[in-house]
Amino acid sequence: MSEEKNILEETASTVAEKVRKTRRNYHKKENYKQEEGTKTKRNYKTRTPKIMQEVKDGEVVETSIAKEVFKKSSLKIIPLGGLHEIGKNITVFEYEDEMIVVDCGLSFPEEDMLGIDLVIPDVTYLKENLDKVKGFVITHGHEDHIGAIPYVLKDVNVPIYATKLTMGLIESKLKEHNMLKAVKRKVVKYGQSVTLGDFRVEFIRTNHSIADAAALAIYSPAGIIVD
Ligand SMILES: [Zn+2]
Repeated sequence: MSEEKNILEETASTVAEKVRKTRRNYHKKENYKQEEGTKTKRNYKTRTPKIMQEVKDGEVVETSIAKEVFKKSSLKIIPLGGLHEIGKNITVFEYEDEMIVVDCGLSFPEEDMLGIDLVIPDVTYLKENLDKVKGFVITHGHEDHIGAIPYVLKDVNVPIYATKLTMGLIESKLKEHNMLKAVKRKVVKYGQSVTLGDFRVEFIRTNHSIADAAALAIYSPAGIIVD
């Protein structure tokens, strides 16, 4: 057995021991909480230290413990409309007891939809989980991305995050519906991030046929998604 391999195995077992210790501590913490009768929605799996050591190519590197060691919860991505139809883009990202919503668009009726002016997404799922919804993050100001905001926000009134021009377009819609005062809004610059519960959303400069469009990098404990 080469010396190099020996060192590698030694480091690996040291790391494994550290991991076991951390795990034990969290179990202890959890038991303690239960003894005290404190109810907590969070379990130790989501309250793990963010950084842990890992062996990679014989070197100890820092990595996310949640990713490598503990069984993690999964991220759900739920389109409420728009995936295979033109218009009404609205997608829910759900991780444990938290949700964020990307875009909130509407579509225009098909020829056979007589007497219908606008088609807005079905947001029953959001209404049923109102306390979990942390906010809307909006990519850009086209109707199929912002058009349903006044209708949806009547029932799901959570803060909106968007770039400056996009927010301007949203605001004129809210104003039309007399909702400007009722809705919390935050303008986000390119390169900035907003933290929404366990999610962090970074607004990235991108080109689109409307100015101030953003691509979103969505960081969750289950991984990163660029939308
Ligand atoms: Zn567009």
